[in-house]
Amino acid sequence: MTEPEPVRRVLIKLSGEALMGDQQYGISPATVNRVAEELMAAHDANVEICAVVGGGNIFRGLAAAAKGFDRASADYMGMLATVMNALAVQNALEKLGVPTRVQSAIHMESVCEPYLRRRAIRHMEKGRIVIFAAGTGNPFFSTDTAAALRAAEMGCHAVFKATQVDGVYTADPKTDPSAERYERLTYMDVLRDDLKVMDASAISLCRENGIPIYVFSIEDQGELGRVLRGEGTCTIIGE
Ligand code: UDP
Repeated sequence: MTEPEPVRRVLIKLSGEALMGDQQYGISPATVNRVAEELMAAHDANVEICAVVGGGNIFRGLAAAAKGFDRASADYMGMLATVMNALAVQNALEKLGVPTRVQSAIHMESVCEPYLRRRAIRHMEKGRIVIFAAGTGNPFFSTDTAAALRAAEMGCHAVFKATQVDGVYTADPKTDPSAERYERLTYMDVLRDDLKVMDASAISLCRENGIPIYVFSIEDQGELGRVLRGEGTCTIIGE
């Protein structure tokens, strides 16, 4: 008898910008549908999936604070923006027939479930994709840190950081043709060189919990599935 494929559990971090498409702001339905198809493909490949969505396509606390908003209030607005994105992704996934639950760190029971660690794990075991909204629920944090935190809480084997490029480069590959992609980086490389992958608290949290980070492009169709199978292009950050 052949052994069943091992089930892996991964957390995918989707920034708000990944849902924006060509727009300058907000949610592009076509882009959300495409992202949902990527998640569905991974889900179909016997991988337990959860996701943390950002909100930068709608509202960023730090930018708003720079314009005079109180930082904590602005951050709560940013967290509410992530709930809108989470509902958009849930809607697209359910249209594809993928059972999905949204859990929010800020309780809003008439919209989605409250964040409950054990319940989230149960959902994944039952084959549902769980989308975590409202970041950590605390101002002065980012959804990158929320991604690292939830990945640790869920016992995820990896964080998959979806970006617009296929990894971490020595310079911006969109403007510098000599930029080279790193195959692997250590957590310390990222922290020491202040590489703009995820913020330092997210990197530290992944490091403390031994969770590797795969930086890949969500723009390339099918890439998430390929990276999950070890065939894709990405940068792996680990020890
Ligand atoms: N935010 C927060 N606490 C958290 C997560 C997010 O206050 O735990 C706020 C913060 O203002 C942030 C905004 O929500 O700017 C949107 O999240 P983020 O900027 O991380 O989204 P992304 O860059 O991934 O789109």
